[in-house]
Amino acid sequence: KLKLELVTKNIRPFPDFPSEGILFSDISPILKNPRALTAVIDLFEDHVRMTYPQVELMVGLDARGFLFGPLLAQRLGVGFALIRKKGKLPGPTVSVSYTLEYGKAEAEIQEDAVSAGQKVLLIDDLLATGGTLYAACELMKKQKADVLGCLVVIELKDLNGVEKLKPFPLFSLVQY
Ligand code: 5GP
Repeated sequence: KLKLELVTKNIRPFPDFPSEGILFSDISPILKNPRALTAVIDLFEDHVRMTYPQVELMVGLDARGFLFGPLLAQRLGVGFALIRKKGKLPGPTVSVSYTLEYGKAEAEIQEDAVSAGQKVLLIDDLLATGGTLYAACELMKKQKADVLGCLVVIELKDLNGVEKLKPFPLFSLVQY
């Protein structure tokens, strides 16, 4: 309860960023405050230990999924893998293209980053339309990984991204 308050207090809203009409949730204050960052990881850890004790790998999304994912993975004693925007990863990769609000994007993972049947959890900072995490789930399907669920710090409820992610369950710390 206190931990959740600490997290919520350290999310800063910015109106009209990156474009007019968008209310951007800035997570920088969480990173600036070590107690708030610890609270985020504590809350994720509690949930994962209770719900997904079988997890074998955390997979984080470019770029803010990289801020929380490795900390959580280390707590849980599992590894961490990166899903990146196209063209950033060396060696053989698997990719998936997806649509953003404006235009298209491509997400990639190294072919050997996750193995068939491996039990994975995906992590990012925020769920909006769900397009980004959905693309990540598609990548995991291509790799035949077993997606247990998705974790985000912030869920924007109005955009109903949770519906897009189905059947994969979503866990969020803060909902707006
Ligand atoms: P979606 O694909 O669900 O529509 O958008 C989620 C992705 O966009 C995430 O990778 C997230 O980092 C980024 N994003 C969109 N809006 C925000 C926001 O208000 N705050 C932050 N921190 N990230 C956002």
